[in-house]
Parts: sequence; structure tokens; C-alpha cells
Amino acid sequence: MGFFALSALAFAKVSILSPLPLPEATVEVGRAAKKGWVVYQVRPGDTLAGIAARYGVDPKHIMWSSGLKDDRLQVGQRLQIPLVAAEERPPRVPPGVKAYRVRPGDTLASVAQRFGLTPLELVSANPSLESLDRLVAGSVLYIPKEAKGLVVALPEGETLVDLAQRFGLSPVRVAQANGVENPAELRPGDLVLLPGIQARTTYQRLLAKQEAERQARLEAERRRQEELRRLAEERRRQQALAQQRTRQVQQAQTQRPQVRRVSYQEGAMRWPLSGFRITTYFGQRGAFQRYHTGIDLAAPYGTPVVAAKAGQVQVAGWSAFGYGFHVVLDHGGGVETLYAHLSRMAVRAGDWVEAGEVIGYVGSTGWSTGPHLHFEVRVNGVVRNPLAYLP
Ligand SMILES: [Zn+2]
Repeated sequence: MGFFALSALAFAKVSILSPLPLPEATVEVGRAAKKGWVVYQVRPGDTLAGIAARYGVDPKHIMWSSGLKDDRLQVGQRLQIPLVAAEERPPRVPPGVKAYRVRPGDTLASVAQRFGLTPLELVSANPSLESLDRLVAGSVLYIPKEAKGLVVALPEGETLVDLAQRFGLSPVRVAQANGVENPAELRPGDLVLLPGIQARTTYQRLLAKQEAERQARLEAERRRQEELRRLAEERRRQQALAQQRTRQVQQAQTQRPQVRRVSYQEGAMRWPLSGFRITTYFGQRGAFQRYHTGIDLAAPYGTPVVAAKAGQVQVAGWSAFGYGFHVVLDHGGGVETLYAHLSRMAVRAGDWVEAGEVIGYVGSTGWSTGPHLHFEVRVNGVVRNPLAYLP
């Protein structure tokens, strides 16, 4: 003879569709309560599975609620049947667990320290963490305040009892740690604290991952430093090349002998040609001389050659010493100028010429490899650098 004993508070508005043929068994009530029990007295022929199916609950929940050791029933025995709340609600968090919202700058270590946990304890409460280093600000970490253990979401199709057994824990202890009076309260997705269970493997995996990431960072840093060194080396090499080029240019420039300019009074002169290119400087080794006694000014054949300074023509003729047709002007005070390799001469010995007056034309007579004027300045019979006298 079965009957319903309704838990007065919980079932004030629950409609229980009883499979039993008792008219008074149907109580019209409104919406579902969150939790409650039905006390059911076992009738002949009842099985635990059958009763559980009738109430849409897990047989293990009935066993747990009713303190059964196995599924054997005795007629007249009273069973407590935990009812499943049908209402939608957010996943349940065990009362001993606090949800902490990650703030910017938080690290797993700093959060663990703040709540007096070891990193392992914190990881155990958050076994789905992907990294020990990267905490996402705004995400939630579960902080076990009392019992420490593994916090997992109840898998679909599993009960608190299943979960407890899977981890070798007493369902009663798990229920206590989670503040659960009725194991049917829990639904898939609800968080369950499994006291004393540590996510050591997860923690070690995360530690290994952290170490791998650290190594990867070190490796990336090493590569970056190497690249910086390579770039610095390349820069040094380029600078050395540039310096070498600068030195070469400077050397080329200093091959021109340093000229100490004489004052105008000492004998300033004008260029004997108006258009030319200096091909050999004074003192340089030339094609025919170990020491060049003047400067060579390259100019087209026939370019007029003018007196560098006023004076008297001392020589205008052929040289036996390589000058070819040449003119020597005496400017007085021991100063002479010489114009060599002329194609022809426009003055004769003894003529007086003004500065700028044409005295001959560019040629390549004597020891010469092409049309140019060899110009010399002599002071008291000693050759001087003509550039010192020229503008
Ligand atoms: Zn010369």
C-alpha cells in the first residue's frame, strides 16, 4: 500500500504525476520547488530501478538518500526519493568555494599567496587552467576556503555518487564538503569539490608547459640577441669600410703635396692656360722623371699658352733634355718660369712680354705622351712648387 508523504515546505506547489492508482495521490500545485523528497513505501514487486525510473531519478540517489547498501528492497521499507528540480539556474558552486574574478596583473602565484593556498591547491581547484602564467583578467578562479581539493564540473550523465566513487571518496564526505543534502540537487555543469584530491598531473603538466614556454622565451631572446649582434657586426663592418674609403680618398688628396702659398709680393702669377686639367703635380713621380720638377696641365693641342708673369724671354727653342719646344721667362729677382712641350712658340729670346701675353701653343714635343703644358717655377735656379705662386 503505497502513499505519498510530501515534504510540506518543498511540495506546496509541485505536481506529482503518480503512477499509483490512488486518486488522492495527485495534488495540483504550481511550479517546481528547488528540492525535496518523496517518501515511498516499498510494495511487493517493486525494484529500485523501477521506482527510480518512475520518479525520473538516479537509483544511486535513492540508495544514498535512503542509506541502502545495495539495490535489494524489502516490502514496507520506506525510501526517501530525492526529487530533481526542473528549474534553470546557473551552475552551483560549492559553499566552501569562492569565485574570484581575476584582476589585471594577477598571477597564479600571487592569487595563491593572497588566499593562503599553494599553487597546486589553486590549480586543483581550477584544473581547466591552460597556463600558470597567463591569467585572463575578468575570468573566474575558484578559491577553496575550507576543504582543499579538486573542483570539477559534474559531467553529463554522472551523479555526485558516481563522481565520489570514481575518485575513491565516500559520497557522504563529498556531499558534506559540498553542502549537499540531496545529491539530486546537483545537475551536470554544477561544480563539485572533491576534498583531498589534488590535480597533481594537471599541475605538473602546467609546470612543464610553463617551463617549455620559458625555454621558448629564452630561445627567442637568444635569437633576438644574436640578430642584434649580427646587425651590430654588420654596422661595424660597413663603418670600417666607409672609414677605409674615407682614408683612401684622404690619401689620394694628400698625395697632392701640401702647398705653402707665397704672398703676392713674393711673386704671384696667373695660370698659363685658361682651360686645363692638372695631370701631374710637383714632386710626383712622372712618366719620365723620378721627381716632377713642375706641374703638367693637360689641354687640347694648340691651346694658347700665356706668360704667367711679365718678364723677358730668356730661352725660346728646342731642348736636348726632353722639354721639346720650350720658353723660359726671366721675371727678375732670380725668378724664372718655364713652358715646355709646346707645338710652336710665339716669342723669341730677348722679347719682353706682359703677364697674359701669348708666348706659344700647347703641343707634345720632347718627352711627352700627349698634348700638355709642363710648367716650372725656378727661384735662383731651384725648382719650386708652381701652385705656391698660382691663384
Ligand atoms: Zn712635366
